[in-house]
Amino acid sequence: MTEPHSKFNTVYAPLHCPYCKAVITSGVGFRAGSLLQARYNLGDKLNWEGDDCCPASRPPQGNLQAVGYFNCDNMDCTTWQDCYPEVQQALVVVNNDVIKEVKNVGKDENFAQYAIVDAS
Ligand SMILES: [Zn+2]
Repeated sequence: MTEPHSKFNTVYAPLHCPYCKAVITSGVGFRAGSLLQARYNLGDKLNWEGDDCCPASRPPQGNLQAVGYFNCDNMDCTTWQDCYPEVQQALVVVNNDVIKEVKNVGKDENFAQYAIVDAS
């Protein structure tokens, strides 16, 4: 049995933590492309090889935004008070298969967990 959310990719990008305002480079976990537990940097091409992809097939133009999650790595951040930081939401922007940008999004934005939005 496979746990549906156990597999994801990680992209490393500079992010503004909304709590401490620091710019941190954090790994953002997201589910798009081949779910190979790959590590990406900004500007890398998303891999669509294999059968285990999210969504199941590549959008025609290779465009999508994927909801991802990261933790602030700044030990002085207020989210660290209980020894583990609060999970923050981000959008991983993919244009023509290339990971262009990771945008902070507030917690008030109500996305489904690991949602894919604006696929085209
Ligand atoms: Zn922080």
